[in-house]
Amino acid sequence: MFSIYFVLIHNVEFVFHKNFKMSEKKHEITLYGIPGSPGVSHGLIFRFLHGDVEVPHYPISKSEQLAELVRLRDAVGKTRTQIEEIKIGVSKNLGEKEANIFDAHLLVLEDKALFDDIEKDLYNTGDNIEQCVHRVTQKYHDYFNQIEDEYLRERGADLKDISKRLLRNLVGETAAGTAFLGEPRILVSEDLSPSDTASLDRSKILGIATNTGGRTSHAVIMARASGVPAVVGLRSLTDDLTDGDTLLIDGFEGLAIINPEEETLFKYGKVGIKRKKIKHLLEDEISLPAETIDGHKIGFHANADSVEEVKNGIRNGCDEVGLFRTESIFLKKNQIPSEDLQFDEYKQIVKSAKGKSVTIRTLDLGGDKILDSIGREREENPFMGFRAIRYCLRNPEIFLDQLRAVLRVSALGKVKIMFPMISGVGELIKAKEFLSEAMNQLTEKGVPFDSEIKIGCMIETPSAVTICDLLAGEVDFFSIGTNDLVQYLLAVDRINNQIAYLYEPHHPAVVRSLAHIFKVAKEKQIDVTLCGEIAGDPHFLPLLIGLGLESLSSSGNLIPELKFFGRRFSFQECIKLKDDILKMRRPSEIKEALKSFYEEKVIEIVL
Ligand code: PEP
Ligand code: MG
Repeated sequence: MFSIYFVLIHNVEFVFHKNFKMSEKKHEITLYGIPGSPGVSHGLIFRFLHGDVEVPHYPISKSEQLAELVRLRDAVGKTRTQIEEIKIGVSKNLGEKEANIFDAHLLVLEDKALFDDIEKDLYNTGDNIEQCVHRVTQKYHDYFNQIEDEYLRERGADLKDISKRLLRNLVGETAAGTAFLGEPRILVSEDLSPSDTASLDRSKILGIATNTGGRTSHAVIMARASGVPAVVGLRSLTDDLTDGDTLLIDGFEGLAIINPEEETLFKYGKVGIKRKKIKHLLEDEISLPAETIDGHKIGFHANADSVEEVKNGIRNGCDEVGLFRTESIFLKKNQIPSEDLQFDEYKQIVKSAKGKSVTIRTLDLGGDKILDSIGREREENPFMGFRAIRYCLRNPEIFLDQLRAVLRVSALGKVKIMFPMISGVGELIKAKEFLSEAMNQLTEKGVPFDSEIKIGCMIETPSAVTICDLLAGEVDFFSIGTNDLVQYLLAVDRINNQIAYLYEPHHPAVVRSLAHIFKVAKEKQIDVTLCGEIAGDPHFLPLLIGLGLESLSSSGNLIPELKFFGRRFSFQECIKLKDDILKMRRPSEIKEALKSFYEEKVIEIVL
C-alpha cells in the first residue's frame, strides 16, 4: 500500500541515537513480505494458533530429565496465570457463574495423580516432556470419554483443553484467542482467516504479521479497515521467531524486523513524530471540498463491515458508505443469521451512517470467507468455485431472508443493493427475480420498503467487463471490484503469496479493462464507482479520474490522504497521465509513472 508515509520513510534524514549500542543478546533480522495494512508498530510477539498443537518428539538423556521437569513446572505456572486472567475477564464480561467454569481447569493443574504419571512416563520412556504430557493426558482423556456419566465426560473435555494450553506453553506457542492478553502484542501466525480476524480483540493487537496471505486477502482488508498495521507473505516468519522476541512491522514497505536494534527503533521513532504532524495536516483538510484544483468533483465513499467502520468513515469525511460487506455478520456469528437478526444489524449500520447512503452488498461467502458451520464441500479452487451470488442463487431461503432484511431497512434510510461476482446477464436477472419475490412477500405482509431501491452489480470478473454494456441494461450502477478483477484477469490467486509478485493492479490488462468499463458506463449513462483496494491507494487516484472515475470507496482511514492528494492536481493533468499510461506496455512502467506523479505533488509536506 503506497502512502504519503512511504515517501516519508524514504526521505527523512535519519539522525542516529548517540547512545546507540549493538544489542548483545539477540540480533536484528529483517524479513521481506507484502505490505498488508499501512502503519508501523513494535512490540512483543503473540503466536496465534487455530487448532491442535504440533507435539514435538525427541529423546532426552537421563541428565536432562530434571530440566524437563522444571520446564513442565514453569509451563504449569504460566498456564495457571493465563487461566486466572481469563477467569477475571469472563467474570467481568459475562458473570461470576460463567467464570467458575475455569475452576475445573485450575483443578486439573492441581491433580497430583496426573502429574505423577507424567513424571513416571518421562523416566520410563526417555522422551521429551511434551510427548509425555501429550501421551498421559490423552490416556486420561480417552478413559473419561468412554464413561457413561456426563459429568465425568465433561471433565475429560476440560482435561483436553487444559493439556492443549499446557502443551502450547511448553512448545512456546500462545493459545489461540486474544482475550487473555494483558498488554497489546504483535500477532504472528502462519495464516489468518477472515473469521479469525473477526474474532480478535482488536484493542489487544498492535499489528499482524503472517507467513502467507496477499494484499487483498480478506483478513488483510479487515486489518486495514480497523487501522491495524499488517505485513503478510513473510514465508518463514513463525519459524524464525522464538518466544519473547520483539517484532517491528512496517506495513508501508512490507518489512518485519525481528528484535530491532536501537538504531532501527530510533529511525522509526523519528518517522513516527513526523507522521503525526502529517496526520494533522491531512485531517485539517477533511472538511474542504473534495475536488481537483480545477474544480473536478470526486466522491469519497467508505467501505465497512461494522458499525465502527461506518463511524470511522463518517469521521474521515466520507460522502456515502460505498460497500457494506454483509458476510462480516455471518462470519462474526459463524452461522447464517435469521432475517430479523440481519435486519437489526443492517439497521445499526444505516443508523450510524447518519442519513448518508449505504450500499449493501449481498452475501459473498466462499473463496477465503468460509463459514465452518454450514458444512460445505471442500473445493479445489474456492475462488473460482461456489462463491457469492452462485451460492445465494442455489440457496433461495438464505438469499430471500437476506433480501427481505435489506429491503426492510431501505424503508429506514438511503439504501442501495448490490450483487457480487456476477459473471453473466442470466445470473443478474435471476438475482433480480429473487429481489422481486422478496418485494412481493413484504408487500403481501404490508411491510414497508423502498420499491425504487437502486440496484447495482459488482464488475469483478473478466466476463462482466466484456459484457458490461449488457449488464448496464439491468442495473442502476456498477461497482468495480479490483481485488477480484485483478486475480481473475491475471489468473493469480489473490491470497497465494508464492505468486504475489504476479498480482499486479498496474498491469496494462487491468488499466485497459478499467478504461473499457468507464467508457461503457458513460455511454450507457449509469453510475460507476470502484471499491477494490486500489481505491485506497492514492497513486491510482489521478489515473482513475483520468479514466472517468467520479467516486470511489475505500477504507475510511484512507480518505483524508486521498482527498489531500486529490486537491493537489488538475483534471487536465489526469487526462494527460491517463493518455501516457494507456500507451505503456509493462506494469513496472505504469507503477513508476504513478509514483513519480504522486511524489512530485506530496513531497512538499514530507520534507
Ligand atoms: C473486490 O473484489 O474488489 C471487492 C471489493 O470485493 P471483495 O474484496 O470483498 O471480494
Ligand atoms: Mg470481490
